[in-house]
Amino acid sequence: MNIILLGPPGAGKGTQAQILQAERGLVQLSTGDMLREARTSGTEMGQKVAAIMDAGELVTDEIVIGLIEEKLQSSDGNGFIFDGFPRTLPQADALGRLLEANGQGLNAVIELQVDDEVLVGRIVGRAEEARKAGQPVRADDNEESLKTRLMEYYKKTSPLIGYYYAKGDLKSVDGLGEIAEVAKSIDSALG
Ligand code: AMP
Repeated sequence: MNIILLGPPGAGKGTQAQILQAERGLVQLSTGDMLREARTSGTEMGQKVAAIMDAGELVTDEIVIGLIEEKLQSSDGNGFIFDGFPRTLPQADALGRLLEANGQGLNAVIELQVDDEVLVGRIVGRAEEARKAGQPVRADDNEESLKTRLMEYYKKTSPLIGYYYAKGDLKSVDGLGEIAEVAKSIDSALG
């Protein structure tokens, strides 16, 4: 089973991906996590994308498609949860091709619907919680980068909603409730 979690920053994709991973034995593939790892380990690519990520802009399609391609080849399991990928139409096309080349397909695209004010509140809250717990705060969890992240989402990622709707893969879920409630809605959408 291969699932995409689609939604703006702060919609809860990472949280729900972890629940799906635990409950369905799927492997979470988060391009954001992979890019942050590349930065921490100081690879050339990590250094190249650092400023772009901190500003809240999207890194190139080529880089993220390359990351996903590597993972698809190296992991085997019950399937994948794509979290934060694809974020552009060329990425969506590439994912379709990569899955097909591996004899697989997409089972569902779950759109997490959350209103914008809630998003901003969640992201500011995430930064505050991290600060209080003495944990590192994501460099892109500040108001300025958040505005850019939202704009990138609406300009480049939100067209994927129509794209997957037209393909018949889209399932929209209310992402506003408690974590467990949203998980339940996703579960019923997946059947
Ligand atoms: P995330 O953890 O999913 O919020 O991603 C953090 C940042 O990593 C984003 O703001 C982008 O700069 C970059 N990023 C993650 N996934 C992608 C993607 N699929 N395409 C382009 N940039 C990405």
